[in-house]
Amino acid sequence: MTWHANTLMDHKDSMPDTTHYRICPLCEACCGLEIKVRDAQVISIRGHAQDVFSAGYICPKGVALKDLHEDPDRLRTPMVKRDGVFVPASWGEAFAEIERRLPPLMAAHGRDATAVVIGNPAAHKIGLLSYFPKLARALGTKNVFSASTLDQMPKQLASGLMFGHWLSVALPDIARTDFLLVIGANPLVSNGCMWTVPDFRSKAKAMQARGGKLVVIDPRRTETAAIADAHHFIRPGGDVFLLAAMVQSLFAEGLTSLGAVQEWVNGVDEVQQAVAPFTPEAMAGRCGLAAETIRQLARTLAHTGRAAVYARIGTCTQEYGTLSSWLVDMLNVLTGHLDSPGGVLFAKSAAFAANTSGKPGIGKGVATGRHTARVSGAPEVYGELPMTCLAEEIETPGVGQVRALFTVATNAVLSSPNGPRLAAALDTLDFMVSLDIYINETTRHADVILPAPSSLEDFHYDVAFPQLSWRNHARCSPPVLPRDLGQPEEWETLLKLTAIVQGKGASPAVKALDDAQFAEDTQRLFGAHAQAVIDATQGLHGPQRLLDVALRSGPYGDGFGRKPEGLTLAKVMAANASGGIDLGELQPRIPEMLRTPSGKIELAPPSLLHDLQRPLVDLARPMPDLVIIGRRDVRTNNSWMHNLPVLAKGPFRCTALVHPTDADRLGLQDGALARIASGLRSVLAQVHVSDEMMPGVVSLPHGWGHDLPGAQLRLAVERPGANINALLDEQLRDPLSGNAVLGGVAITMHAVNYCDRSSSDHQKPV
Ligand code: SF4
Repeated sequence: MTWHANTLMDHKDSMPDTTHYRICPLCEACCGLEIKVRDAQVISIRGHAQDVFSAGYICPKGVALKDLHEDPDRLRTPMVKRDGVFVPASWGEAFAEIERRLPPLMAAHGRDATAVVIGNPAAHKIGLLSYFPKLARALGTKNVFSASTLDQMPKQLASGLMFGHWLSVALPDIARTDFLLVIGANPLVSNGCMWTVPDFRSKAKAMQARGGKLVVIDPRRTETAAIADAHHFIRPGGDVFLLAAMVQSLFAEGLTSLGAVQEWVNGVDEVQQAVAPFTPEAMAGRCGLAAETIRQLARTLAHTGRAAVYARIGTCTQEYGTLSSWLVDMLNVLTGHLDSPGGVLFAKSAAFAANTSGKPGIGKGVATGRHTARVSGAPEVYGELPMTCLAEEIETPGVGQVRALFTVATNAVLSSPNGPRLAAALDTLDFMVSLDIYINETTRHADVILPAPSSLEDFHYDVAFPQLSWRNHARCSPPVLPRDLGQPEEWETLLKLTAIVQGKGASPAVKALDDAQFAEDTQRLFGAHAQAVIDATQGLHGPQRLLDVALRSGPYGDGFGRKPEGLTLAKVMAANASGGIDLGELQPRIPEMLRTPSGKIELAPPSLLHDLQRPLVDLARPMPDLVIIGRRDVRTNNSWMHNLPVLAKGPFRCTALVHPTDADRLGLQDGALARIASGLRSVLAQVHVSDEMMPGVVSLPHGWGHDLPGAQLRLAVERPGANINALLDEQLRDPLSGNAVLGGVAITMHAVNYCDRSSSDHQKPV
């Protein structure tokens, strides 16, 4: 196959202006971009108007791909720490250092003496997603951590328990719905989260133009709330009380109707019994919505033919995250909106989806607790331990103490609760390797850093997000720019690391390693047909070969020639310039997409029914009078975009939003500094007084705090911001999913003078 961009790469110095089409890898929205290049320099980035999925939409972050590519702080060569100082090294030297230090450590202390942490950007990289598991398997450690337990694990667990797979997430059919209830999410800024929906604003406006209603429930009048038909404040952490009361109302008023999924549902009676104590009157004080408002929301949902409930980060990053996520889909099921056009539906992804492979309509379901964390005993979920357990696993002596760590595209020191404790723990490791593009607040602790190519130098296909997309599609992008000489692709780096861990050393050729692994995988998946699959994919290698196999054996695939009109990688690549291949609106998929052992939707998993006792007990707990939550800004994405000029300019964004009545009673001035404390932990932040906050709630965005020594982010450090995660307690988590509690945490706040700062405070008025 011939790809235009690849051809051009061979003639870097004499390239004419060229136009390239690239899926944006920076957030879940997966927008199609049009990128113009002159003399190997990006001269413009805009939305690709013909893109079948995003239709030309772009946000400011997409434009920043140019800044990211050109960032002088982005690593272009491996770094090896010598005598405590990073020095540039060749790839051979870097791999040799790993081979010298890692295998002896594993031999002496065992496999569980290693740990891996993988961050959010990896979800956008087919090379990392498809080859990182091979490294983790080779390590054989149970100490696998990721950003999932700082973010969406409750949603994945609830979906897995109900529908049978972790990525079987019910998605609002926004193009056809007449009522969308959004809880704890801000899709106008995020363009969806566990729901890939670029240009949410236009879709919401279109819904309103046809008479539909958007209602938002959030402790802040968010950007989404600002365009909504109604907005209700909710106490942070109050979602489970609201949602259970809505479910109780449906039963109490005889409003349940399962619609098309009626014969595929188990457990309705058990749920009715379990939610009986959650009357709106009993829950109103705890969630902050009046009982009549709760009932009215339930009635509207039940009486609207096409309606959907969508909830995200605020409902997940709290102590009742799994319960809240479960109750959201409970509302969709009980009102007949699950698997119904205009309600919530399941995507049918062209490749890699577990709910399109194997026997339709039945499966193994999901399990948790197959092993536990050594120190806390926290159960494994989706193969991972809670991210908040990492520091104690490093600190605590004994068999299985973590002594060597791999980090992949993560800045856990800024993105995890009690980052200062984690930073101190990282300093005690015997060995640490990071795959990363920056020396940031986490990778500064590494012994070896292996850089990735720039996003513009990567082949791209989204593995996960087509499974969460508002519309079915198949799109992929070739590299826009050539890689620097000697820079391996990420999957090649991971294969080398895997070989070192397996005792093969760093010298085997990557191609031979990849071919051997592919042959093994193909035999396992295709048995007697394995050789035919290998023959059909000749000329391909790495992730592209895996993708070709996944597309061709997927639900729209050509079946390796049996269905000639079906998809292949070549066909999807050929559609790159025309915006990809549209595979149509989401369609009802129950029962074929279910992968539960019963072949039914499990409404009443015992673990969830049992956990429902916790919020009932919690009703007696006094409520703090001031709590903190995070927030999302369109110009940032977690911790790693604060070093890009086009995003860093403009008003300072890491401000603490405080309601005027709270500002008055606490003596806080707009623009002045305040100390925010939780227990013994505290940070300084700049106050912004705003009535968009619910009284009693303060909002500070996460991912900031770029003032730690040793990081090399020269622009970010100029306005470092306050790190909300430095305030949070790593011991607080949702016990079912292991997800960290990032919102609704009690704080105190008081004004300080700039001169009153302690020596550890680096925040200053901006
Ligand atoms: S919303 Fe912005 S960052 Fe996200 S994919 Fe689209 S252009 Fe990229």
